[in-house]
Amino acid sequence: MVSRALDVLLLGPPGAGKGTQAKRIAAAFEVLHISTGDMLRDEVAKGSGLGQEAKEYMNRGDLVPDALVGKMLTKLLHSRRGALGCVYDGYPRTTAQEALLEDLLAELNRRVDVALYLDVPDRELLARITGRRSCPSCGAVYHVATQPPRTEGVCDACGTTLVQRDDDKAAVVRERLKVYRKHTAPLLKLYEDRGILREVDGAVNPDEVFKRLREAMGSIGK
Ligand code: AMP
Repeated sequence: MVSRALDVLLLGPPGAGKGTQAKRIAAAFEVLHISTGDMLRDEVAKGSGLGQEAKEYMNRGDLVPDALVGKMLTKLLHSRRGALGCVYDGYPRTTAQEALLEDLLAELNRRVDVALYLDVPDRELLARITGRRSCPSCGAVYHVATQPPRTEGVCDACGTTLVQRDDDKAAVVRERLKVYRKHTAPLLKLYEDRGILREVDGAVNPDEVFKRLREAMGSIGK
C-alpha cells in the first residue's frame, strides 16, 4: 500500500511492453491502470461518436487529436478522484497532453512522481507488434512466436478467436514508430530535465523488466 498517491508514467515506443508492465505496476502498487489506447479501442468497439472519430486516426497509425483524448482523460480522472494514484500507459504522447496531465494532477494536489522509459530497438519492436494477437473479448494478449496460446488462434482464458489489431500490421506500425519519434520521444528530455526520468532496458524478458522497473523506482511509492 502506498501512503500517498503515486502517479507513474510508462513511456516508450509502441511494442515496448508498456501495457504488460503497467498491469504489473498497477497490481503491485494498487494504483489505477490508465491505457488511453484501451479506452479508445473500447469506444471504437462500442461505436460511440468518439470511437468513430478516433478510429480513422488509429487505423492509419496517427495520434488521435489531443482534444479528444484530453476530454476522455479528464472525465476519467475526475470520476476517480479517490484513486491512490495511476499508472499511465500510452499517455501523454504530446507536449500538450503532458501540460493537461500536469494541470489535472495539480487540481488533485498530485504530480507525476516518476517517468519510466522502456528502451527497445526498432527491429525488436516490429517483430513484437506484428506477431501480437489479442482477444477481443477479455483483452488477453499473445504473440505467435514467443507467447502462443495453447490452441492456435484461440484465447486460453475465454476461448474467443484471437485477432490482430488493424494498427499492428507492418505498414501501420512503421507509421506509429515515426509518429512516436516526432511527437512523443521529445517528452523524454522534459522528464529528464525534471530529474524524474528512469530508463530501463525493455528488450529482456517481462519478469526481468519488471524487476528492473521496481529497482529504478527505488523508494518511490514505498
Ligand atoms: P496504444 O494501444 O497505446 O499503442 O494506442 C493505439 C492507438 O491509439 C495509437 O496509435 C493512437 O492512434 C491512439 N492513442 C492511444 N493513446 C493516445 C494518446 N495519448 N494520444 C493520441 N492518440 C492515442
